[in-house]
Amino acid sequence: MKKVVIDAAACDGQGYCKRFAPEVFDLDEWGYGKVIREEIPDELVPGAEAAMEACPMQAIKLL
Ligand code: SF4
Repeated sequence: MKKVVIDAAACDGQGYCKRFAPEVFDLDEWGYGKVIREEIPDELVPGAEAAMEACPMQAIKLL
Protein backbone atom coordinates (compact mmCIF):
# COMPACT_ATOMS: atom_id res chain seq x y z
CA MET A 1 0.00 0.00 0.00
CA LYS A 2 1.34 3.40 -0.98
CA LYS A 3 0.03 6.90 -0.96
CA VAL A 4 0.07 9.01 -4.10
CA VAL A 5 -0.07 12.77 -4.41
CA ILE A 6 0.08 15.27 -7.25
CA ASP A 7 1.78 18.62 -6.78
CA ALA A 8 -0.93 20.77 -8.34
CA ALA A 9 1.47 23.68 -8.73
CA ALA A 10 3.81 21.57 -10.87
CA CYS A 11 1.21 19.77 -12.98
CA ASP A 12 0.73 21.29 -16.40
CA GLY A 13 -2.03 19.03 -17.57
CA GLN A 14 -0.39 16.74 -20.08
CA GLY A 15 -2.45 13.73 -18.99
CA TYR A 16 0.19 11.01 -18.90
CA CYS A 17 -0.87 10.02 -15.41
CA LYS A 18 -4.34 8.93 -16.46
CA ARG A 19 -2.98 7.15 -19.50
CA PHE A 20 -0.61 5.05 -17.40
CA ALA A 21 -2.82 4.43 -14.38
CA PRO A 22 -6.51 5.22 -14.96
CA GLU A 23 -7.43 3.42 -11.73
CA VAL A 24 -5.43 6.00 -9.78
CA PHE A 25 -5.59 9.22 -11.79
CA ASP A 26 -8.20 11.18 -13.66
CA LEU A 27 -8.14 14.60 -15.29
CA ASP A 28 -10.19 17.50 -14.06
CA GLU A 29 -12.33 19.66 -16.32
CA TRP A 30 -9.28 21.70 -17.36
CA GLY A 31 -7.17 18.63 -18.13
CA TYR A 32 -5.04 18.70 -14.99
CA GLY A 33 -4.27 15.46 -13.22
CA LYS A 34 -6.09 14.54 -10.05
CA VAL A 35 -5.75 11.57 -7.76
CA ILE A 36 -8.92 9.53 -7.49
CA ARG A 37 -7.45 6.98 -5.12
CA GLU A 38 -4.91 8.24 -2.61
CA GLU A 39 -4.14 4.92 -0.93
CA ILE A 40 -3.24 2.45 -3.61
CA PRO A 41 -2.97 -1.31 -3.14
CA ASP A 42 0.20 -3.12 -4.21
CA GLU A 43 -1.23 -4.29 -7.52
CA LEU A 44 -1.73 -0.69 -8.68
CA VAL A 45 1.72 0.50 -7.59
CA PRO A 46 3.51 -0.45 -10.87
CA GLY A 47 1.04 1.63 -12.91
CA ALA A 48 1.37 4.55 -10.51
CA GLU A 49 5.17 4.30 -10.71
CA ALA A 50 5.00 4.28 -14.51
CA ALA A 51 2.83 7.42 -14.36
CA MET A 52 5.30 9.05 -11.98
CA GLU A 53 8.18 8.31 -14.35
CA ALA A 54 6.20 9.48 -17.37
CA CYS A 55 5.04 12.75 -15.84
CA PRO A 56 7.09 15.42 -17.63
CA MET A 57 6.70 17.81 -14.71
CA GLN A 58 7.70 15.33 -12.00
CA ALA A 59 4.50 16.33 -10.26
CA ILE A 60 3.63 12.86 -8.95
CA LYS A 61 5.00 11.54 -5.67
CA LEU A 62 4.58 8.07 -4.22
CA LEU A 63 4.96 7.96 -0.46
S1 SF4 B 1 1.23 13.53 -16.12
FE1 SF4 B 1 1.95 15.00 -14.61
S2 SF4 B 1 1.77 16.99 -15.60
FE2 SF4 B 1 0.53 15.53 -16.73
S3 SF4 B 1 -1.53 15.73 -15.90
FE3 SF4 B 1 -0.51 14.07 -14.83
S4 SF4 B 1 0.41 15.01 -13.02
FE4 SF4 B 1 -0.09 16.62 -14.43
